[in-house]
This record gives sequence, C-alpha cells and structure tokens, in this order.
Amino acid sequence: MNLHSAIPVLTVMNFHHVLLEQKLHDRALLASVDAALKRINEGTFGNCLNCGQEINPKRLEALPWVRFCITCQELIDGSG
Ligand SMILES: [Zn+2]
Repeated sequence: MNLHSAIPVLTVMNFHHVLLEQKLHDRALLASVDAALKRINEGTFGNCLNCGQEINPKRLEALPWVRFCITCQELIDGSG
C-alpha cells in the first residue's frame, strides 16, 4: 500500500461501517465497498482490475471503490 491510497482506504473502511450500521438497501454499493475492502486485504487496492495500473489518486479519493482506471472505465462504458 502506498501513501496515495491511505486516505481512500480509510474512506472505504468508514463507509463500509456506515453502510452496515444503516442497513442500507443499496446492495450493489455495499458489494462494491466489500470488494474494495477485499482488495485492501489482498494488497491490490488502488490498482485497475483491467490493466493493473495505479488508479489516479484523485479518482480514488472521489470514489474509493472504483475498480478501473479512467482509461479502462471509458473502454468498458462503451465509448470505443
Ligand atoms: Zn486500467
């Protein structure tokens, strides 16, 4: 884990806690946060699941549970 991902990691952990506390019905979001926690434990958090590059720290801070870098996200979203 590098310094860049320290803040997003805390955000994920806090948000996971909040989601569980509130028993939110947004299961998709909870699943995303769960998956992010798993990646934290595995040491792959902050890396794009598609290309393996580090995700932009600003992107991670805004959406800590994103799985892909912007480049891959755009590809997946079907712009190309
Ligand atoms: Zn990527």
